[in-house]
Amino acid sequence: MKLLQIEDRPLKAIRIMAMPYKYKVCLGCDSIVSAKVSTCPNCHSYRFEQSVEEVLKQAKELALRPQKSVTTFDLLG
Ligand SMILES: [Zn+2]
Repeated sequence: MKLLQIEDRPLKAIRIMAMPYKYKVCLGCDSIVSAKVSTCPNCHSYRFEQSVEEVLKQAKELALRPQKSVTTFDLLG
């Protein structure tokens, strides 16, 4: 199981939204990281926002951010 390695951002965002308590938001680079890490793998910050509300907000932005490549997702019908 390598859920965090999925490149697909909307799918990743959905997984995060399903289990927000397993993640936290890095205050250094705004990326969503596993709640288990002690420093951010992207920017090595050790400051995190761990509230579910903040994780959900960031996950939504991750999902809604326009993709660079044109890809069709049928998630919204
Ligand atoms: Zn970071």
